[in-house]
Amino acid sequence: MTLKLRPRRMRLNDNIRAMVRETSLSVKDFVYPIFVVAGSNVKDEIPSMPNCYHLSVDNAVELAKQIDALGIPAVEVFGLPEYKDDIGSSAWNMDSPVQRAIAAIKKAVPNLIIIGDVCLCQYTNHGHCGKLCGQYVDNDSTLELLQKVAVSQAQAGADIVAPSDMMDGRIAAIRDALDDNHFINVSIMSYAVKYASAFYGPFRDAADSAPHFGDRKQYQMDPANSREALKEVELDLSEGADIIMVKPALTYLDIVRAVRESINRPVAVYNVSGEYAMVKAAAANGWIDEKRIVIESLTSMKRAGSDIIISYHAIDAARWLGNI
Ligand SMILES: [Zn+2]
Repeated sequence: MTLKLRPRRMRLNDNIRAMVRETSLSVKDFVYPIFVVAGSNVKDEIPSMPNCYHLSVDNAVELAKQIDALGIPAVEVFGLPEYKDDIGSSAWNMDSPVQRAIAAIKKAVPNLIIIGDVCLCQYTNHGHCGKLCGQYVDNDSTLELLQKVAVSQAQAGADIVAPSDMMDGRIAAIRDALDDNHFINVSIMSYAVKYASAFYGPFRDAADSAPHFGDRKQYQMDPANSREALKEVELDLSEGADIIMVKPALTYLDIVRAVRESINRPVAVYNVSGEYAMVKAAAANGWIDEKRIVIESLTSMKRAGSDIIISYHAIDAARWLGNI
């Protein structure tokens, strides 16, 4: 028997595999999330997220310098405020850790892209992503608060604001507010497709943002739905979103692919805390090869169609990619 078609010819050695590789992961694909807190010289490890820390602004600046030196192009800044109230007013206070961190990082590392997470759940005393009306998160009055958050982050120096609340109409509201305040060049990365996911658990420890009653299913998407994802994307693009995000990543790569094929704008994916924690826990037990698992996972996100990967693995992956 003579086989004419032998796909294994294209896998014979490293060089031939490199020549025919369809997807290449780059440090330039990554965004690293940073959690900032009040105080100085604070570096507290987040228990369910090994090697991720709550950082005071001074330490966040030092980390941002390292991230820049590794070639990672962007950070996304999250924060724990010094006070919480029923409307989350510390979210737009220019003296809050997030606004101070954005300003300090921009001054120290001007070329590093700074993304501000725009939401209220870290700042409200009830832990929901907006203003409550009874047990309902009121959509339209929340939009006015999100506008204040976005403008405050732009004032601090954010290059991109990233609303993660899932209120209807927030992209148009934020675009209007940015433009009215002369921030025409501040981009919006929309968490357009954000599922009500159990994979966010460790982040809620990190951000102290678990809702005190109920859950977020009133506003975040049902994990069973995909057509609805395309509707959310369509709306956000029509309202002025510059980048569309799908969150979480690994259990939603079919959605990433569907979004990629339906739009001509950049697609981002958020490799969330639960995905990170599972890898770190298995690696700590010696059950998996962490480096190979991480590179394979991040490559799958790129292959599915994402241009931008927000990941807690980004720093390790940047170092590993340098040696691959
Ligand atoms: Zn939120």
